[in-house]
Amino acid sequence: MPPKERNIAMMGYRSVGKSSLSIQFVEGQFVDSYDPTIENTFTKVTRVNSQDYGVKLVDTAGQDEYSIFPVQYSMDFHGYVLVYSITSLKSFEVVRIIYEKLLDVMGKKYVPVVLVGNKTDLHQERTVSTEDGKKLAESWRAAFLETSAKQNESVGDIFHQLLMLIENENGNPPEK
Ligand code: GDP
Ligand code: MG
Repeated sequence: MPPKERNIAMMGYRSVGKSSLSIQFVEGQFVDSYDPTIENTFTKVTRVNSQDYGVKLVDTAGQDEYSIFPVQYSMDFHGYVLVYSITSLKSFEVVRIIYEKLLDVMGKKYVPVVLVGNKTDLHQERTVSTEDGKKLAESWRAAFLETSAKQNESVGDIFHQLLMLIENENGNPPEK
């Protein structure tokens, strides 16, 4: 089967690890000082349930509570990764605001989303509980994961789960 093309956007407050997760997924390495202002597009072919996907991953420069939702991110995307840091309550609040603006701009009630609490290796600095992350994701009917880009923990799962949610939305439930 030819690969299915899927466009995914990484969104969230600054410094939560959007670029680190993208680079960890695409290149398999942790880059410590990545220019936070850069917006980059990565591509990678990945296989889920014997189907190849050509993933186009847009790593946005980040949003805050005041950002007007950038219209270019509401078009031509199949799904979204919304990232916060488990060490930043502020980033958790911002991700909720981004989600509301996203639905509003798209005029939809549902969008395939994976909510990601990153930086689990910094557990001593945790300010957002796993429970709160889970609850927020449930209220969106989104998938939820806690990850560490640094330790490459659950990074691949983000994209696998999102690709499955996108399949389900398209009425093609993935095979078991
Ligand atoms: P972005 O602005 O959301 O793209 O965030 P970056 O990927 O540039 O990361 C911001 C800072 O957090 C950088 O110093 C990264 O090295 C660091 N960082 C990103 N992910 C992790 C992680 O999982 N654990 C730790 N300890 N630091 C991380
Ligand atoms: Mg970045």
